Amino acid sequence: MLVVMEHGATPEHVQRVVKTIEELGYQARPMPGAQRTAVGLVGNDGRVDSSRLAALPGVKEIIHVTQPYKQVSREWQQEPTRVHVAGGIVIGGDDVVVMAGPCAVESETQILTAARQVRAAGAVILRGGAFKPRSSPYTFQGLGLKGLKLLVRAREETGMAIVTEAMDAEGVDQVAEHADIIQIGARNMQNYSLLKRAGRAGKPVLLKRGMSATITELLLSAEYLLAEGNRDVILCERGIRSFDPATRNVLDLTAIPLVHSLSHLPIIADPSHGTGRRDKVIPMARAAVAAGADGIMVEVHPEPDRALSDGDQTLYPDQFAELMRQIRGIADAIGRRIAEPVGAEA
Ligand code: PEP
Ligand code: MN
Repeated sequence: MLVVMEHGATPEHVQRVVKTIEELGYQARPMPGAQRTAVGLVGNDGRVDSSRLAALPGVKEIIHVTQPYKQVSREWQQEPTRVHVAGGIVIGGDDVVVMAGPCAVESETQILTAARQVRAAGAVILRGGAFKPRSSPYTFQGLGLKGLKLLVRAREETGMAIVTEAMDAEGVDQVAEHADIIQIGARNMQNYSLLKRAGRAGKPVLLKRGMSATITELLLSAEYLLAEGNRDVILCERGIRSFDPATRNVLDLTAIPLVHSLSHLPIIADPSHGTGRRDKVIPMARAAVAAGADGIMVEVHPEPDRALSDGDQTLYPDQFAELMRQIRGIADAIGRRIAEPVGAEA
């Protein structure tokens, strides 16, 4: 529930609303905004009797949020959330942010080479898994902490921010300590203890859609992060399972405008996992930008044929450079811009 304050409401009026919400046994979240000041009420598991709050001085109206998710909804917050990442990068603003890098960090040479290549082509965030959720326990599982340290080296050298996955609650702290964005993978979208921990980690979170998750389930998982106090949440459409094995997944591009209408959170697309096929990544990256994605995440490796994971869907560096050229044109056509590396020519 949202208590919307009148334009002339004083800080005392807002304070009185906060106190009343607490007296009723709920938590209050004051939200000063450019358009309106409101106080959110959380902690209720059903409709709250709002008569006491409606009668308080300075209160304009009470909005009952109709969706099962509350704080992530557009009803709760009208303006889009802009997630600020280290290095002056903003996700959810006018710029479309490109995250690129290998599926997994494999060695110092591999990650540094990949970082230089994607940075030169214009990516602003480096991706690379140190902890890998693999279908088989016998395949490469990632370098762990050593991988995180190599990502930090790549950041020091290139100035790129880094995003990497945390697979369990203990891993969240390690990832938060080293990375700029904590990635929660598709397989863990509904790992609620992991979400709670990530919600308290003090770093932006990239939440990937589960491979059979509905949009409502995705937004409810994001709600876990906001409920813990983390407002810096970026959603990611990474393809859903279908009956057709022609592609690894089906990139659900409708999710992008849908999420934008239901939520104020930014949403990016991952055409690499979304298709599973290298030759389909560029067209779907173009389509994602055209559909209004706030960013894209793409797998790129100096030598995809030697990649220890996901080589089939990984771009060669020159293909990635071509992708960047093409999406600049698409962004331009819809009045957006591809975010440039800080310090690069505009
Ligand atoms: C990844 O981005 O490395 C990854 C494992 O993706 P997903 O969780 O979407 O499968
Ligand atoms: Mn991968």
